[in-house]
Amino acid sequence: MEYFRVAPIREFLYLSIQILSILKNTEIEIITSVGHILTETKLTVAIVPHESPDGDAIGSAIGLSEILSNFGHTVNIVTPNDYPEFLKWFASDINIIKYDNDKKGGKAAIKAADVLICVDFNEISRAGKLEKRIAKFDKTKILIDHHPYPTDFCDFMISEPEYSSTAELIFDVVHSIGLENNINKNAAEALYTGILTDTGAFNHNTSRPNTFKVVSELMKFGIDTERIQSGVYHNFSANRMKLLGYCLNEKMVVYPEFRAAIITISKEELERFDFQPGDTEGFVNYPLSIKNIVFSVLFIEKEKFVKASFRSKGDFPTNQFAKAHFNGGGHLNASGGETDLSLDEAFEKFTQLLPEYKRLLLETVI
Ligand code: 5GP
Ligand code: MN
Repeated sequence: MEYFRVAPIREFLYLSIQILSILKNTEIEIITSVGHILTETKLTVAIVPHESPDGDAIGSAIGLSEILSNFGHTVNIVTPNDYPEFLKWFASDINIIKYDNDKKGGKAAIKAADVLICVDFNEISRAGKLEKRIAKFDKTKILIDHHPYPTDFCDFMISEPEYSSTAELIFDVVHSIGLENNINKNAAEALYTGILTDTGAFNHNTSRPNTFKVVSELMKFGIDTERIQSGVYHNFSANRMKLLGYCLNEKMVVYPEFRAAIITISKEELERFDFQPGDTEGFVNYPLSIKNIVFSVLFIEKEKFVKASFRSKGDFPTNQFAKAHFNGGGHLNASGGETDLSLDEAFEKFTQLLPEYKRLLLETVI
């Protein structure tokens, strides 16, 4: 890194203090090594986000790939599968390979890479069909993520659970390794989208000033925040709105005595409303708008399993609930999982669990 060659000790100390004060979890040696790897030679890089990528996963992957290619690296993004239509408006022309549609392309991109960077997940199983490819990759693997309880499957783990989003973290990491001059408007737009979507449009996970500091820095690149807001949140089909209305009107069950609510959606119901990937994004948040509700659950019947989403307010640990009962995990207030039970059985299981959590739910401070 240029920095170290110019004035090694003074600059190293300065950099150490700066990074340590921002990246609380990551040892300085890790950042330094990642800095060396990503700045000393031109590389071929593959970036992998988690399965069914959301705004943060895609925004982080696109933002980082823009920055690394502006620096001169050759970059490919390989997603395990497709992502929602409302995330397809990015200006970036970086190639995104969807592994389940293009196994050959995905395999080649990973094989050709000198460095593999995993973004927005911290358990290898969250890479879905790319899990084995990542496990087998025998060159440098770097992780950049903000989920709690990381599992150690990369050589360099930058894991910072305090961050609102991986996108916010990438912004700080890029500064920490001296690549900040490679941020352009496209990258800023993508990183902003990651922060926007992982905070539910600044509704949650926004208690740290750094989040807004990064947002204000990103805005200096001239990004059009209103256009992004429209691209992400005002871009739905009429059927999606009707499905939402139907779910809230006919499928939401509220348990005021437990301060909880649940929505279940069957495959047949999804088909009735011409479901497209991404259509149910955000549905799980709606019950939390009801006064006094602190725990919201969404079960969606998929082809071979039921996908569960959990959201909460205050300290109610949805990730522990997801882990203990629905093979999942995630953040305290936003987590997910899945079960092999039928939709009805999953619903039954959930209602039977509520009494066990009654005390915790009633004690949750909001
Ligand atoms: P969503 O409900 O939007 O699918 O996911 C919310 C959060 O939970 C995300 O941060 C995601 O990474 C995490 N999550 C979702 N599904 C799973 C899962 O099956 N396992 C684990 N460990 N985390 C999940
Ligand atoms: Mn995220």
